[in-house]
Amino acid sequence: MKPSQFSLLSIVLCAFTFTGWHVSERMPDEKLHIHVFETDEGDAMLIKTPEGHFITIDGGINRTAISSFFREKWFWDRKIDLLILTHPDSDHINGAYELLQSFAVEKILFTGVQKDQEIYKNFISLAKEKNIPMVFADQWSDIQAGSVFLDTVYPLTSLAEKTVEASNNTSIIFQLRYFNFEMLFTGDIEADKEKILLTNGTPLKSDVLKVAHHGSNTSSSLPFLKSVQPKSAIFSVGQKTRFPHPAPAIVQRFTDLQIPTWNTKNGEVEIVVDADQFCILQKKEEKCMKNEG
Ligand SMILES: [Zn+2]
Repeated sequence: MKPSQFSLLSIVLCAFTFTGWHVSERMPDEKLHIHVFETDEGDAMLIKTPEGHFITIDGGINRTAISSFFREKWFWDRKIDLLILTHPDSDHINGAYELLQSFAVEKILFTGVQKDQEIYKNFISLAKEKNIPMVFADQWSDIQAGSVFLDTVYPLTSLAEKTVEASNNTSIIFQLRYFNFEMLFTGDIEADKEKILLTNGTPLKSDVLKVAHHGSNTSSSLPFLKSVQPKSAIFSVGQKTRFPHPAPAIVQRFTDLQIPTWNTKNGEVEIVVDADQFCILQKKEEKCMKNEG
């Protein structure tokens, strides 16, 4: 969303600002934590704000990555403040549906596209049955969760009820902002969508990029990467994926641009952010950099 749209943004913020009653239960350490999980296929991510809000993004194909993490870390806590479903492909929705079944989800952000797929229909029915507010993503559906802001940059206008064959290119794209730290979440978008973002003035420059479509050669065009200028990039690639992800040509592109990459095939990636710096952790490896935006 552009600055000139601030007045409308304020209205949206009122609607989306979370209450913090449960904060003390979640042992906040005054840092932002972003987890990109190891899953058999797809994306499964969790944002834990410094104030203790939990925001999940998709859930992977195998239904376990995020819920196992909750079981280990916060077994007593069954509340998700916001569940984001970027698009309804099985490697994103299966795990999200499990979360919807077993957690108290406060709100859902999704595109509302039409797709003839049983689990997607079940997902929508269950959300309705549980009376969970379902918000269609558009440029106004920004989220303020404590000190963390999520700026929805795609879709600009709602895709609700639109019938799609392939839903990759309908993925919700958003930029997370926290102090000077920015991270871009790109779902499974492809190069033609990247081209649209490059031409419509969308703020793309980010410290960290969640690489689109698991590092497939359908995405991560050179102009897009040059515009995002990430200081680190994360390939969310499944352990048992049926696809050749990430594509060697795309990995090479990041190498040529001297952008360090992390791959969830080697284990969960965690990004820990405070006001001055962000650190990326994977197993025993850790790399910290200054927030620059
Ligand atoms: Zn995917």
